[in-house]
Amino acid sequence: MSLIVQKFGGSSVANAERLLNVARIVTDTYRAGNEVVVVVSAQGDTTDDFIAKAAELNARPSKREMDVLLSAGEQISMSLLAMTIQTLGCTAISLTGWQAGIQTDINYSEARIRKVKPERVRSELDRGRIVIIAGFQGINKQDDITTLGRGGSDTTAVAIAASLGADLCQIYTDVDGVYTADPRIVPNARKLTEITYDEMLELASLGAQVLHNRSVEMAKKYNVDLEVVSSFTRNPGTKVKEGSDMEKMNVSGVARDNNCARIAVINLPDEPGVAFKVFSLLAKHKINVDIILQSVGKNRVKTISFTVPQDSAEETREVLANAKGQLGFEDLSVNTEVAKVSIVGAGMASNSGVAAKMFEALAMAGINIRMISTSEIKISVLINEEDSEKAVKAIHNKFFSEE
Ligand code: ADP
Ligand code: ASP
Ligand code: MG
Repeated sequence: MSLIVQKFGGSSVANAERLLNVARIVTDTYRAGNEVVVVVSAQGDTTDDFIAKAAELNARPSKREMDVLLSAGEQISMSLLAMTIQTLGCTAISLTGWQAGIQTDINYSEARIRKVKPERVRSELDRGRIVIIAGFQGINKQDDITTLGRGGSDTTAVAIAASLGADLCQIYTDVDGVYTADPRIVPNARKLTEITYDEMLELASLGAQVLHNRSVEMAKKYNVDLEVVSSFTRNPGTKVKEGSDMEKMNVSGVARDNNCARIAVINLPDEPGVAFKVFSLLAKHKINVDIILQSVGKNRVKTISFTVPQDSAEETREVLANAKGQLGFEDLSVNTEVAKVSIVGAGMASNSGVAAKMFEALAMAGINIRMISTSEIKISVLINEEDSEKAVKAIHNKFFSEE
């Protein structure tokens, strides 16, 4: 007997027909002699709809109340799925995040799981029940509901799998695996039969939303067997694992992130300690900074540009504008019409010419690069948002069609 965790995303549980389809997958797994824990997301666009509803009433609602609201979406799906499974003759029980023992830190809307106490889930499994858990939510030390960030149900699933010592964690979604690029942008993208945790973590962090990046981080840390599969087809999916043969792969995928903004702090004094002042101020406000570029100092001034998540752009502008006197810059520019496009591959570091090939693809497509950042296993460029689909297609074509 194996213990299997199955997570179903929003489109997989969007309506009655799809819930029945999910219930069949779950009960087939159970009847094959396995213990099954299911993690569900909110149905379809429920989370977005809740966000829009809140915005009608309050432009800046408190994060605490947003978490109370958003967590309701997953609670609807979990009970509907439990009821549907009951109609197929199996016993199922639904549990909220706190009932399932998911304890988080205090950061509403982006909480991190600190600990999972699996006793309740374990005892329900011991009674022969299928356990359905609300994804994306937990409880903090003040006994308040928290949520884990958009796409966080994947992380719930991996955390539950790790805490129960599950044999497998399956992420069921609307594509049948991890592809070399988002198949919605690049229809001829290739499905990967497997990918390493490290490459998947980079892809997810760089915008491939097929897996929540923290779920991959956690799967690597606790060595959880992770698989991405479709709930609509029975095709084999993609295994995410520790790997060595993948090193042969130069580039394993292309990712795009439209949720970026570029900030330029123009004409700062060109003297020691300036970057420290700017970035420690942003760190104090918990603003995540990504690519950083500093111009060559000239006439005793320099410009520092960097990217932040788009929803931090306004706060970044405010924080910097309030510190204008102290930092001594002349001007500030904020551009939210930018996107980051990246290539990821474990074999990149040992292969020269990968960057040149990526830049050639962009040049041929007539796309201007605004910023570049590289690491051992990725190269990212910042470009105009309107060019981002064209860029993904051109880069993908260069690396995956020309070989
Ligand atoms: P779910 O609701 O099941 O969690 P998501 O929308 O979060 O599903 O993630 C699945 C989507 O991820 C796919 O529909 C696809 O458009 C997108 N995606 C982005 N990059 C990739 C990739 N490299 N491989 C597969 N899917 C990707
Ligand atoms: N419902 C949440 C979201 O839309 C969490 C998830 O689906 O993973 O982001
Ligand atoms: Mg998702």
